[in-house]
Order: sequence, then C-alpha cells, then structure tokens
Amino acid sequence: MRTTSTSERGVPERSETPDVSGAYPRLTDAQVMMLSRFGARRQVPKGTALYSEGDRDCDFFVILEGLVSVGPPTDREPQLVAVHGPGRFLGDLSLLTGQTLYVTAIAEEDVEVLAVPVERLKEAVVEDPGLGDLILRAFIVRRSLHAGTGAGFRVVGSRFSSDSRRIRDFASRNRIPHRWVDLEEDPEAEGILRRLGVAPEQTPVVIWKGEHVLRNPSNAELATLIGLRVVPEREAYDLVIVGAGPAGLAAAVYGASEGLSSLVLDAVATGGQAVTSSQIENYLGFPAGISGAELADRAMVQARKFGATFIVPGEARSLRGTDGYHVVGLSDGEDVTAHALILATGVQYRRLEVPGLDRLEGSSVYYAATESEAQLCGGDPVMVVGGGNSAGQAALFLARRSSVVHLVIRHHDLHRDMSRYLADRIEKTPQIRVWRDAEVYQLDGDVVLQSVVLRELDSDRQHVVDSSALFVLIGSMPRTAWLGDRIELDEHGYVLTGANSRWGSLFETDTPGVFAVGDVRSGSVKRVASAVGEGAMAVRLVHEFLERAGRR
Ligand SMILES: Cc1cc2nc3c(=O)[nH]c(=O)nc-3n(C[C@H](O)[C@H](O)[C@H](O)COP(=O)(O)OP(=O)(O)OC[C@H]3O[C@@H](n4cnc5c(N)ncnc54)[C@H](O)[C@@H]3O)c2cc1C
Repeated sequence: MRTTSTSERGVPERSETPDVSGAYPRLTDAQVMMLSRFGARRQVPKGTALYSEGDRDCDFFVILEGLVSVGPPTDREPQLVAVHGPGRFLGDLSLLTGQTLYVTAIAEEDVEVLAVPVERLKEAVVEDPGLGDLILRAFIVRRSLHAGTGAGFRVVGSRFSSDSRRIRDFASRNRIPHRWVDLEEDPEAEGILRRLGVAPEQTPVVIWKGEHVLRNPSNAELATLIGLRVVPEREAYDLVIVGAGPAGLAAAVYGASEGLSSLVLDAVATGGQAVTSSQIENYLGFPAGISGAELADRAMVQARKFGATFIVPGEARSLRGTDGYHVVGLSDGEDVTAHALILATGVQYRRLEVPGLDRLEGSSVYYAATESEAQLCGGDPVMVVGGGNSAGQAALFLARRSSVVHLVIRHHDLHRDMSRYLADRIEKTPQIRVWRDAEVYQLDGDVVLQSVVLRELDSDRQHVVDSSALFVLIGSMPRTAWLGDRIELDEHGYVLTGANSRWGSLFETDTPGVFAVGDVRSGSVKRVASAVGEGAMAVRLVHEFLERAGRR
C-alpha cells in the first residue's frame, strides 16, 4: 500500500503506513534504550538502501529519526509495502531464518537508525522475551503481507502446466513471497516474456530480482537461489530428523536445545501437513486457533535459535547402516550420516481412482486447501471429497471464497468421522451443500475440470454437478516406501516401534538408534499435539541410546 500526502508545493510526501495487523508495531523508548546496548547508531543519507532484495545476513534496524520506505525495488514495481518512522523496526522473517530478503528498504530522507547485528538481537530478546515475541509476530505477519504485494520472485507460466503448479506449490508451502503471472490470463505475461527473450513454450520461468531468469527450475535450484538450502557442515550429526512436520520440528527444537548437533531434512517444506491447515483450533495454548504456517514458522525459528540445521528440499531416498552409523541417501545423490535417526515422514493423501483423474490432476485436482489453491478457484463452485476433519476444514475455508462448496461423503452422518465443532459449522453454512451417501463417479472436462458426476450409493442415481476444482481429502498413506525393508513396518506400511512391538523403547524401531514419531508411526494419534509430544519425547530416548552406545 502506498501512503502519500501532498506538500504545499504539490510534491507527494510519504507518511507512515498505519499498523493495522500487528505487522508494524512501534517500540517504546525503554525498548529502544535496552536494544541500544546491543547495537550502534548509524547515519544513513537520503536515498541509501539499508538493505536490498536478495541480501542476506543484514542487521536488525530500528529507526530513530526519519522515514524509510520498504517495497520491491522501485524500478520494477510501483507498489510500496510500507513506510516506517521513528520507533519502528525493519526486516522480516528472513533475518531469523537465514533466507534472502524479498524487499528493499530505502531512506526517504536523512535517517538515523540503531543497527543491531542479528546474533546480538538474539541476546537482547533473551533479556526481554516480550520484545522477542513482538518482533517475531510482526515478522510473521509481514511475510504474509509481502506475499500480496509483488515482492519476491515472479513465476510466469500456464496454469495448466504441472511444472508451474510444482513451482507455485513449493513457493507457497515454504511461505516464499512470489507473484504468479498467468500466461493465459495476465495481460502482462506476453510483454514480460518478450522483454526477457523467453518463448511461451519455454515456460514456466522464474524471474528473480527483475532480471535473473530460471527456466523451469527444480525445487532445489529455487531453494538455493533464495538461501533456503544449506550444505551439511559435519561428517556425522548426533541426530538426523527426516521430515519437518510438527513431529520433526518438535524433535529439532528439543534435540538442538539439549545440545545434540541436529540436522532436519524435508522433501518439500517445513510444517508438513499442518501447513495446509488454515486454522488449527485444538492445539494447546491457542484458544483463538493458529494457522499451520505460523506454527511452523515459529517452530523453525525456535529450532534454528538452538542451532538446528535445515535442508529443504532434502528428500531421503535410502537408508543404510555403516560402522554403527545410519546413513541417509538424498535424492540429489548426497549422503548424511547420523548417530541416531528420527523418522517423522508423516503421511500423504490417497488419490481417487476415477475416470478423468489422470487427465485433470495437474490442473484441477488438489490435495490441500490453502490460500494459493483458493486464489486459483476464484469464486467458482468447487467440490470437496472426504468426511474427516481435514475435509471439513477445507470446505469451511473454501466457503469464504467460492459461491458453492459441494462436500461429498460416502456415509450419512456428517458427525461420524468429523469433530463436532466442524460438522456443526458446516451445517450452518449456507454455501456448503453436503452430498450424503454419495461418491465421485467421473470427472469431466478436457483441460480443466468442468463438472463431476456423483453417484448415489443406495440408488445408483447419477448427478452432474458443476465444479471447477476437486479437493480430495480421503485419508492417507504413510511415507515409508523409501525405507525398503530396512525397518519393520505394519501391514499398512506404518513404522512399528517399541510402543507396539517387542523390542526397544517406546518410539525405537527394530533398528537400535532409529526412532519413529508422529503420523508415520504405527498406532499414533493423527494430531498436531500428539506429533509434537512424540517428537519431544523421542529426543529423551535418543539421549539414552547415545549414552548406552557410549557416544555421549
Ligand atoms: C488439512 C489438514 C488439517 C488438519 N487439521 C488439524 C487440526 O486442526 N488439528 C490437529 O491436531 N491435526 C490436524 N491435522 C493433522 C496434523 O496436521 C497431522 O497429524 C500432523 O501434521 C502430523 O505431523 P507429522 O510431523 O507426524 O507428519 P507430517 O505433518 O505429515 O509431516 C511429515 C513431513 O515429512 C516430509 N517427508 C515425507 N517423506 C520424506 C522423505 N522421504 N524425505 C524427507 N522428508 C520427507 C514431508 O514433506 C512432511 O513435511 C490436519 C491435517 C490436514 C492435512
């Protein structure tokens, strides 16, 4: 949002952006005084960049005098994110996660700032945890505000391309600000491609800092570009955690905080399934609910604060044992070595086996309902399949945007597999139409979904229902195929641990030093709170194992 007023000479003057969502709080004099013990005052002449899009490792700046504007570089986008004055601080989540910054901050006039190195900021917030929470909350909210302003990279491609979808999914699962330029609909697309000398058939392309063009980059290339992916620094870690959903993140926080060198791998993004939940309402301590993305960001910052290292994307493809160590082979051919291993790979959604799915899966079928999918659907009618909590949450979330949400369940009682609070809300939401005792029979549409044929289970009657997107949330399968026969699994492919078999401690598998927690563990309760609890508890068992094995 650009905020300007006009001076007597008719020249627009900028004024401060109001703080409407807690993104731009003003520090008190006492807080600035306290912080000044950790940093130094600096004069910044008008027009100087305090930091630029693409920078890393910059200081935390508190404005003492003058105005600073923040936004995408002005030669590229006319839109500002915000203007800040005395008492406000600059920066966003990237300062704490080691990623690149997605915006540029320019002194609008001669400015005085307090520059605090990020390492020293960490010391300051230990002294004043309230200040730490204020800054973290502001940074998390800013990241989501940046997402809607043109900050970050641009993805130009066709909405029908599965690679366009992969890149956008990767960016949104990792909460990376980006702008989608739709080849079919956005009038800007053609001009951008012509200027960069890219033919439409060479899309999708990612444009970074207005000039660097990556043609159909892999997720790993994108992650390297924005500083998300690090190279492992050690020969062997005390603890390697595979999977950074709630269970893996909890293990990372407890492992690193208790002095274990801890490496976390995730194939896609931190946060796991929880990131696809717009509002988790049953997690202890958050009576108003918390979005999965915020929970994941907070946990990642916390784990990094204690020294955990993250490799994202880092997909485990194989596991072998060498000289008492556990060696995880990654999809890029690298190996990481661990004294102890925690498997926290969770589950993935089941697909529907119906005619039309293979053809339309890349363009119109989704396995999560987040802001990014909701944007693609616009206000069109959509369909959600599934009777569990995730389907219920998705239906309610989509009903905020879509004209009609069709919810299809294979039984009669909406309350059977869904928490009562969700089922009650669905019944009171007029935009949601529930199809009971019904199943998806066929998907129709050439390139995109146009309608779904539903079949009534007791009468065989069919109904053709208009729908531009299908959200499939019908249960899940454990992500254990990569383990081969190295670890004993139950008949459904979930990892067996001491909790449900004859060997080892509660979460230890049949291989000493390898533990399993969260949704991937046989018999686990499939909830955020239990995944977090298991991840935390497993670290105690890892300590016991390392002591037993004489490695601590
Ligand atoms: C839409 C939705 C809404 C939900 N709402 C709620 C709710 O309100 N309350 C609640 O309590 N629970 C909810 N849940 C369930 C909850 O999110 C899960 O129980 C929880 O996320 C499980 O955590 P986890 O860490 O065990 O596994 P996951 O969250 O599944 O995380 C596993 C991680 O491992 C990674 N991974 C998988 N294989 C590999 C590999 N080979 N190499 C590297 N990484 C790998 C994945 O990319 C993923 O990030 C919801 C789930 C969904 C889908």
